[in-house]
Amino acid sequence: MRSAKLVAPQKIEFVPDAPEPKTGPGQVLVRVKAVGICGTDVHVWRGERPDVVLPRVMGHEFSGLVETDLGKFKKGDKVVVDPVVSCGTCVSCKRGYPNLCSTVKCLGVQVEGAFRDLIAVPEEKVYRYPKNLSFVQASMIEPYSIASEVIFRGVPISGEKALVFGAGPIGLGILEGLKLKGLSVMVADFVDSRLAKARELGADRAVNGKTEDLAQAVKSFTEDFGLDFIVDAVGSPKIMESAIEMAAPGGRVVVLGFNPTPAQVPELFLVRKELKVMGTRMNCNRFPEVLEWFGGNKVHPDAVLSAVYPLEKIQSAFEHIAEDPENTLKIVITL
Ligand SMILES: [Zn+2]
Ligand SMILES: [Zn+2]
Repeated sequence: MRSAKLVAPQKIEFVPDAPEPKTGPGQVLVRVKAVGICGTDVHVWRGERPDVVLPRVMGHEFSGLVETDLGKFKKGDKVVVDPVVSCGTCVSCKRGYPNLCSTVKCLGVQVEGAFRDLIAVPEEKVYRYPKNLSFVQASMIEPYSIASEVIFRGVPISGEKALVFGAGPIGLGILEGLKLKGLSVMVADFVDSRLAKARELGADRAVNGKTEDLAQAVKSFTEDFGLDFIVDAVGSPKIMESAIEMAAPGGRVVVLGFNPTPAQVPELFLVRKELKVMGTRMNCNRFPEVLEWFGGNKVHPDAVLSAVYPLEKIQSAFEHIAEDPENTLKIVITL
């Protein structure tokens, strides 16, 4: 089978005749058809993730076809796979939080992923997806599961005012999800083309934090009350600091970045406004909700698709992102 392995930072090797994976008990063999490139993959490709051991087959946002019958799955079923790898027996797993497993891993990050023809995955992480979707569209179910997790964690209420920092594919997915829950949503970014995309996807306001006064925009957007729901989809301590300031009484701040730099967060603000600040990691069984979004055409994955490359050209796909990160949203590899 074909496979693409990251062998050194910024160097992916295409292997035309890699050995096929063997399935263990309870594992479904999936023939991969489309795999999205995530920001995480780009960090790994650049050599910025010390927890990733090379060589590594990356790729965790994928769709494909069941290769051999197993349990409720039949050969040819169109499926997507939740990439959270969990043990199933630790305290967090037993409590129902596989994404907080004591040995949690992600396919394509700490273990081999989907940039190859065949992958063996646990049956319970496999989901059939609506027939109306293409393989490329279905590969975007996983990034929307990150958005779904953020929204679930922050407990949105219809009519509330939200602000999403960052209009990349995840930020735009969060925007779409929050609109589905009935919130008014403002989006902030530094790139005008991304803000235009946010408007196209229903943002009530889209503000360029470089050229506009964001604090003033928030004031008028919330009639001086503050923001009920704030998401940092960028991962910056500065954003966390301004989020705490701009939050409304009872507000929630949800973060999903991996920035180790401490933020200066005054306890006084947290207490006076009874704020909730929470992290989110990957997704905790959010695929069913996202499948409903996709099946009902409630979200618009096509709007975030920038380009499609075949597996043989995967190195060029990563270079495309590296050369023009601002104007590139989602790139998908097809097999
Ligand atoms: Zn991802
Ligand atoms: Zn576990």
